[in-house]
Amino acid sequence: MLKKLFKPFRLSRKAKQPSGPTVLDAHEHRLSCADFTRNSANVAVRLQQAGFEAYLVGGCVRDSLLGVTPKDFDVATSATPEQVRYEFRNSRIIGRRFKLVHVHFGRELIEVATFRSDHSQTTDDNNDRSAHDASGRILRDNVYGSMADDAQRRDFTMNALYFDVSNEKVYDYSTGFADIQRRLIRLIGDPEQRYLEDPVRMLRAIRFAAKLNFDIEDSTAEPIHRLAHLLRDIPAARLYEEVLKLFLSGHAVRTYELLCEYGLFAPLFPSTAKALEKNPEYVNRLLRNAFSNTDKRISADRPVTPAYLFAALLWPALTARAISLQNDGMHPLPAMQEAAHQVLLEQLKTVAIPKRFSIPTREIWDMQERLPRRAGKRADMLLAHQRFRAGYDFLLLRESAGEHTHNLGDWWTDYQDASDSQRRDMISNLSSQGAPARKRRRKPRTSKPSHMQAGQE
Ligand code: ATP
Ligand code: MG
Repeated sequence: MLKKLFKPFRLSRKAKQPSGPTVLDAHEHRLSCADFTRNSANVAVRLQQAGFEAYLVGGCVRDSLLGVTPKDFDVATSATPEQVRYEFRNSRIIGRRFKLVHVHFGRELIEVATFRSDHSQTTDDNNDRSAHDASGRILRDNVYGSMADDAQRRDFTMNALYFDVSNEKVYDYSTGFADIQRRLIRLIGDPEQRYLEDPVRMLRAIRFAAKLNFDIEDSTAEPIHRLAHLLRDIPAARLYEEVLKLFLSGHAVRTYELLCEYGLFAPLFPSTAKALEKNPEYVNRLLRNAFSNTDKRISADRPVTPAYLFAALLWPALTARAISLQNDGMHPLPAMQEAAHQVLLEQLKTVAIPKRFSIPTREIWDMQERLPRRAGKRADMLLAHQRFRAGYDFLLLRESAGEHTHNLGDWWTDYQDASDSQRRDMISNLSSQGAPARKRRRKPRTSKPSHMQAGQE
């Protein structure tokens, strides 16, 4: 793999057949079967032996050409999902909008897709398998076709390269191989139409630009700002999957910059975008630091949770909402609770965060209210709380963005390292320093979240 990185590619000078692909030999593309997992190559071999066409395709070919380890391995074939299912006992047909087959080998999953055709002209014959809405968006995409058809309906040229395990040739129906060498993301076909068909392609362009450090070719980039609003029509469950890929692939900081640059951040996180407009420096710093922490953890192979990410992404909107509720007369604590409820509920309309992450997100927020209250036995109880670590990390994140917390982060850092007797001293120092005693208040008093107190409004 490394050797490949240091050897320059050779541009193919082969003439392209009018409708056929450019065929690249092993000495030109420098890939071999060894670049793909044994299971993925075996799936292609088995389908070929059963009389079908079958190729490794998409991200695994693109990434292997770049010397990057592929995330997953996809196979494209002339066999229908049912025929694929018949060949592999360890397989399952999935999807409705886009039917495909998952072939399972222990923890490895190979995705096998039947060649699709471009079906913008829907006929009576295929309109139960294919459908578009009024704006041209693809609702179902199960019209099968040839390998050449399949190449045309893929998103970017770099994703439409097919590797044949039987002869180690790469088939390129557009300009994918050359675009990879130029490090360019280029949509196949008319960009505007391709985004109208599937607006998620705009997010994919950004994701690949960040991951591969590629440029987005001008005519592919041009319509994005104009069409960014189309993301609002995408089902929230699909956008949730895309958001995870955007921010949990190890390039979240760059992804965030590009999303903002292309006007795609606001349709994904409307309330955060509003907070960003009002208080750009603070919100930008908070988000960048959260993304940078996530990227560092991923590069160190440490686990990351979407709950932390959503806690950070929605925190500025949450605190702004809490202030407005307090201004309407609500007490600070219930105002935070109510704001958390409202902000999450609104966000779910765009990005369907599942409960298993939205609940811990709320717990991280709750911790922010609890961490300042350390008197008596509270500090030890908090330390034993299952969300302590996440809450403490989040407190440090807020401080890193400039929130004033009276050095609460340092206090908790010291407390964790302290001996029992030192801990007792730290707690008694708190009361001697006049830590606020619990008082019953009659009237609600507006207490602004600390970043607002810091004069960053
Ligand atoms: P990675 O797996 O690294 O995220 P990938 O390119 O393999 O990148 P997948 O989502 O696994 O991305 O999709 C596999 C292939 O399917 C892509 O390479 C592309 O050819 C095609 N594809 C995926 N999504 C779309 C889409 N929305 N429109 C057209 N083609 C798509
Ligand atoms: Mg893939």
